[in-house]
Amino acid sequence: MITHPFTYAAPTTIDEAVKALGRSRDAKVLAGGHSLIPLMKLGLAEPELLVDIGRIASLREIKSEDGAIVVGALATHRSIADSSTIGKALTALAEAAAAVGDLQVRSRGTIGGSLAHADPAADEPAPTLAFDATIRVIGPKGRRDIPAREFFKETFETALGPNEIVVEIRFPAPAGHAGSAYAKFPHPASGFAIVGVAALVAVKSDGTIDRAAIGVTGAAAGPFRATAAERALVGTRGDASAIGAAAAKAAEGVTMLADLTASSEFRKQLVMVHTRRALERALERARG
Ligand SMILES: Cc1cc2nc3c(=O)[nH]c(=O)nc-3n(C[C@H](O)[C@H](O)[C@H](O)COP(=O)(O)OP(=O)(O)OC[C@H]3O[C@@H](n4cnc5c(N)ncnc54)[C@H](O)[C@@H]3O)c2cc1C
Repeated sequence: MITHPFTYAAPTTIDEAVKALGRSRDAKVLAGGHSLIPLMKLGLAEPELLVDIGRIASLREIKSEDGAIVVGALATHRSIADSSTIGKALTALAEAAAAVGDLQVRSRGTIGGSLAHADPAADEPAPTLAFDATIRVIGPKGRRDIPAREFFKETFETALGPNEIVVEIRFPAPAGHAGSAYAKFPHPASGFAIVGVAALVAVKSDGTIDRAAIGVTGAAAGPFRATAAERALVGTRGDASAIGAAAAKAAEGVTMLADLTASSEFRKQLVMVHTRRALERALERARG
């Protein structure tokens, strides 16, 4: 039960939504409601005004534009998992969306909500980082494009400014012989990622690895790029020893979380194992 009183607005345009947010000092965007409503029921969030963006139809679109795949902020996890465009070009994103919670959560929860909420155990931040996506936001001062690497700050903290709304996520379509994959170790009860790894690799015609990008979620206070592992892989032929050596560096320089479910040592081990698995599947696809 939600015990505190709040007002509710349901604008039909982005402009109206930004203006509505400006009417209260304690307003919150409502998207799929699958993170915000539970927090309100627990009394952990008590916004004075909810601005429901669910009626802004344009925010649901998934389209190709100028060499990018553009995913509207209101695209649900389910629509992302089911999209053939995403499945083909951004396989790791489709796999991460398919790994979110259960069918009900996937049918209501949105990518914009997931990124804005910045739960350290959320799945979609990992492929968003690995694909070097850009998060487009609109607020009282106009439009901004925020690179994924600058978007995620700490636990539940992003680069979003006051009253800014995530409107779309722009994923550059990977060029050349590229493949990607997402490997997850889910929490046995909640299904959230204890560790999730998205890997993207591109190979040259001679079989050597041209590009490697690895996004990790669940393991630390925020999602991160495993840059030491990426560097270790580029220029190799991606054989078992090269992948193993790269995966061993995936947690390098990052403080692992520790909680009742997984110690920091266990999380580090999971990061290495799931980096190896994601890289193996991504390479198979890049070569296929
Ligand atoms: C039982 C259960 C299991 C789950 N399991 C998983 C899981 O395994 N993996 C996983 O990743 N997630 C999981 N989730 C979370 C789920 O994916 C949420 O749907 C998602 O994190 C938030 O999306 P939403 O659209 O529901 O956002 P909301 O709950 O509506 O909003 C969340 C926050 O983001 C803000 N916000 C939302 N949209 C925007 C926007 N466009 N611009 C600016 N701010 C915005 C809101 O103001 C709020 O602060 C689970 C949730 C539940 C209830």
